[in-house]
Amino acid sequence: MTTGFRDHAAGPQAPASDWSAARLAEAAAEIVAGEDLPPIVQAGHPVLRTAALPFEGQLDAELLGALIAIMRRTMHAAPGVGLAAPQIGLPLRLAVLEDGWAGDEQVAAVRSRSPLPFVAMLNPVYVPVGAERSAFYEGCLSVRGYTAVVRRAERVEARWTAPDGAARGAEFTGWQARIVQHETDHLAGTLYLDKAEPRSLCSNEEYAARWAQPTPERAARALGF
Ligand code: ZN
Repeated sequence: MTTGFRDHAAGPQAPASDWSAARLAEAAAEIVAGEDLPPIVQAGHPVLRTAALPFEGQLDAELLGALIAIMRRTMHAAPGVGLAAPQIGLPLRLAVLEDGWAGDEQVAAVRSRSPLPFVAMLNPVYVPVGAERSAFYEGCLSVRGYTAVVRRAERVEARWTAPDGAARGAEFTGWQARIVQHETDHLAGTLYLDKAEPRSLCSNEEYAARWAQPTPERAARALGF
């Protein structure tokens, strides 16, 4: 892991989580044992603003596998295309991603959105590839009810560890790159709002009524960002 990789996720310095391995394992076991899916914590909860702990074997393989399965179900139920462990209250560098979106083809083409098969990432890091940036409205399950435009790298190289311990790396483009950046940022205590165009902030209702075009150009002209 290089410094260059990590810097792209970190916003203003977030304090590191002070959880012990035992506390983390206990909290994960509680979530896995729960009858209901865990609630998704909302902005204002400090876990979203701390740098999560690198995975170093704090959870055994069985617990990790069960946790990933719960996170996947929670992501589907929301519904969302990514979920980071801090969003269910665990300061651990773990995120699940999956985009099975099959919407309007034109919109998908403009946003470079194509299906992303399920992937669980431990300790992910990314670095932009090239200078191309794209700006689109995005939202977050932990900032319920709002959406805002974020300018992000169109292409990133990511590295992570798979649940079985294997080192993985891949290049992602378009919407997939956006999801990778958004979820990895969560693990550094960064919310998408930190990188958003402030004047683009929009309730979901206003977005649906006015700005759901494939690109945010009209919104930019009207709202002044
Ligand atoms: Zn989010």
